[in-house]
Amino acid sequence: MISSGLVQLQNEYNLTPHNGGLYGFIQGFPVLMCGDKRNQYLWINVGVGHADEINVLKLLSHPLATYRIKDYTQHYDMLIIHFHDKSAGLTFIHNYIQTEMPALYEGGFLGGQTVCNNCGEAIGDEPSAFLVVGTQPEMVHERCVDDITAMVEKVNAQATVKLNERSSKWAPLGAVLFALLGVIPCVALYAFDIHLPFLAALIPLGANYGHQKFGGKPGKVRYALMIVLSLLLVPIAHYAGTIAGMVGSTYSINSGLTASDLPNIIAQANMLERAFLRMGVITDDFIFGLCVVYFFTLLALILTIRKTIRTSRIDIYKVERIDVHH
Ligand SMILES: [Zn+2]
Repeated sequence: MISSGLVQLQNEYNLTPHNGGLYGFIQGFPVLMCGDKRNQYLWINVGVGHADEINVLKLLSHPLATYRIKDYTQHYDMLIIHFHDKSAGLTFIHNYIQTEMPALYEGGFLGGQTVCNNCGEAIGDEPSAFLVVGTQPEMVHERCVDDITAMVEKVNAQATVKLNERSSKWAPLGAVLFALLGVIPCVALYAFDIHLPFLAALIPLGANYGHQKFGGKPGKVRYALMIVLSLLLVPIAHYAGTIAGMVGSTYSINSGLTASDLPNIIAQANMLERAFLRMGVITDDFIFGLCVVYFFTLLALILTIRKTIRTSRIDIYKVERIDVHH
């Protein structure tokens, strides 16, 4: 879907819609324009060769904020610009194109309309093709198309190998160990009467970290371990922490405990635990506390799993040839 705002730019620059984006040339550079109501992106293929030695930020004549640019990143030969605006974004994109794109040429970047994005040689009168590689716009010689295709196939083959790698058989052990480590700070701080329910998030985070450290690959097994370990260990941590808190408040932290007090503390803990159980076991406060702790754990679970899925996704790129206006 191309937002109604971008349609205006599509007409102005004679861009070609393809896979939800707009492709074509702006000031001689192959571009992709895409976005939604809140964010607009402009990808500019700034050319091969020494492109990554030029500091794109130094070429700007106005600060990024002038154009409501949230992010200005150069990734190899691709300059990716993220405009942040709800409605007036088009004016800012327009101003950026008019004011700053000529400076890209002057700064030493070569537009794809004149220079091949693959070999860096002049396009001249040679047959050429506009390619969409993954999502990137590329203008190349007809004779360079095979080069690009071969390179993309190589990248895809490497990605497929990575996808099929197996987890180490020790990975679940790592998840358990680090989830258990995550319990310690929760319990320890309860003893000092410090209640930071979000610390329980260390349990799923620990499981995730431990699984990875012990050679585990992201996937269903890891997520299942994170969920099961959280379900099991969070109540245990809350329970142990509550008991620790009762002991802690009895023996004030500042009273200078020595090793000889240890048996006393343990006896006290046993007594308190029994009292605690007799009091109708799990009090309303306890349940409420547990719900709060579970809430933070769930939040950490969702965020971590979402992030892992996003970062571990393996893209298989396609090379497509499209017709654009010159
Ligand atoms: Zn070429």
